Amino acid sequence: MLKPINRVACSPALFACQQLMQRFALWLCNPAITYAHINQQGLQPPVLASNIEANWVWDFLQSIEAGQTLLSRAQTVAVMPVAQKTVLMTWIQSVSALATQFQPAPTLWPINCPVTSASDWKAFKTLMEAFYEKGFRSGLPYQPDGTPTAVDGVKYADYVEAFRNAHRLNPVLDAREVCVLCGGPLGDTPHVDHWIIKSKFPLLSVCAENLALICSTCNEAPNKGYKPVHSNGSFADWFHPYLRPGNGALHLEYVLADLSVQCSSLTPADQSKSVKLDELLNLSTRWTREFKAEYAKHQDVLRRREQRRLQNAQARHSVADIQSYVQQWQADLVHSEPHHEVHQTLALALQEPSRLAAWHSELGL
Ligand SMILES: [Zn+2]
Repeated sequence: MLKPINRVACSPALFACQQLMQRFALWLCNPAITYAHINQQGLQPPVLASNIEANWVWDFLQSIEAGQTLLSRAQTVAVMPVAQKTVLMTWIQSVSALATQFQPAPTLWPINCPVTSASDWKAFKTLMEAFYEKGFRSGLPYQPDGTPTAVDGVKYADYVEAFRNAHRLNPVLDAREVCVLCGGPLGDTPHVDHWIIKSKFPLLSVCAENLALICSTCNEAPNKGYKPVHSNGSFADWFHPYLRPGNGALHLEYVLADLSVQCSSLTPADQSKSVKLDELLNLSTRWTREFKAEYAKHQDVLRRREQRRLQNAQARHSVADIQSYVQQWQADLVHSEPHHEVHQTLALALQEPSRLAAWHSELGL
């Protein structure tokens, strides 16, 4: 969120899959649909939009998940009581209208499980999550632009590659990549994050606006983990990667007295959102750790330079020498490197006259 997050070239394929999931789920919840309707012929248009999608879903339903076919899960949903189907249908429509949560006067986001029977919910959840776990991994029935295709549809690996390419700050393939949320290194094992967790909102498991490639540190507890990204169903105090982006709104503020960095906002209107994002990802704590580590590194560099000067009977470092060192280091900072904002903040902090003097004294120069 510190960096811009863009929709990627194959996002239309994911949008098309989201539409397919919604259409299929609503059809299963139609009171007129029962066990017997779910077959290859029964899925053809106008139930699903095209023969390609209908045939793909039929093949998909033959997959085995935890010892049962996905078809059996779909059948479980189709035979739910009509009253339960009606509630689930309303939930599907509310969740599909995610974007309206970031428009004026949104309705409350559904936070309670819509299905009372645990086994019925598990069937629906498993079926919807399988669109991500199985369908997306092996290939959706869409070309990158969302056109249905029976062969070589967009896969998980294609999405990861497209996301990486769209967010490279340095086009050189060997250059370090940066996490869009924290600005740190993307690392060797980035995760595709579901911004709104898929275990509670499985309908959003392949939603393009719910996915982003982030560093494993951001994604795992005690950082994002399974925490909600709303406050009891209200998104008012929350940024969203695509629907209410935080880049350009966040500000790193250093607290000189204790050499720490706070995640803050440029305007008071965004303050509560920056606080929530900080709580979600522990940005202040993580940025402060990097700030102090980088500070310690430069202390070490200067101490060793000072030792060499002494050994060579050269003049000792003055405050002006330290300032010059920091200015040179700052001028060489590159925006495409991990933690650029933290390092920039440190460079500014160190040039405060009082900090500069303190540093000179700490070094015993
Ligand atoms: Zn990160």
